[in-house]
Amino acid sequence: MANNPILALTFDDHYVDDWLGAAPIFKAHGVRATFFVTGFPNVPSIGAMKLHKLLDQGHEIGFHSVSHANAVDIAKAKGVAAYVDSEIVPGLEAMKLMGFKPTSFAYPYNAHNDELDAALRPFFGVLRARADSLDEALQWSATKPVLRARSCDSVRAGDGVSLRSTDDTVNELRLAARPGQVFALYAHGISDTPVKHHAMTSRGLDYILWSAKRLGYSFATASELHDVAA
Ligand SMILES: [Zn+2]
Repeated sequence: MANNPILALTFDDHYVDDWLGAAPIFKAHGVRATFFVTGFPNVPSIGAMKLHKLLDQGHEIGFHSVSHANAVDIAKAKGVAAYVDSEIVPGLEAMKLMGFKPTSFAYPYNAHNDELDAALRPFFGVLRARADSLDEALQWSATKPVLRARSCDSVRAGDGVSLRSTDDTVNELRLAARPGQVFALYAHGISDTPVKHHAMTSRGLDYILWSAKRLGYSFATASELHDVAA
């Protein structure tokens, strides 16, 4: 695996129906993705069942906090320990009771700092944040366990504005395709009809994954990256 570039494809929030709907695309390309889910302990059992289907398909379920609150804001107002007590511990306990073993976490709104990273490290092997440039996305060996991912949403929540084209993402995959290079992407929903949330299209997903394979990428879930040598 270390001779290939490695792609970690991640999704956030709670678009489990979209994610299950894209199962044929993931399967066609042999991709195992990571889904960072928010809302535990309040995820209904039907939602948990659907997430187990994703697990059964070889994907990873990570955590994305109890209420999707901004971690930096809460830490500033109440302290880092209060953030862990309210946004991490109850969700993790519920996930374990429901048969999940989350070992990776994605920060809501990319809001984090060194103190939060240190406080969450005992709970998770990988902490996913956002990369604001391609250079930032290529630093896994230096930023470990903070994984900085590039957005591949094609539409933004609310205003339907296009963020980046699929070609932008594929071009970055091309530039990052060096032996052993770790590259991570993140998105939210997957939809081919107009939606009110962040989403990429299923054709865009298919094209990105097809391109990644042609560029020689192998695929890893977030937690698997923890063991990838720099
Ligand atoms: Zn989120």
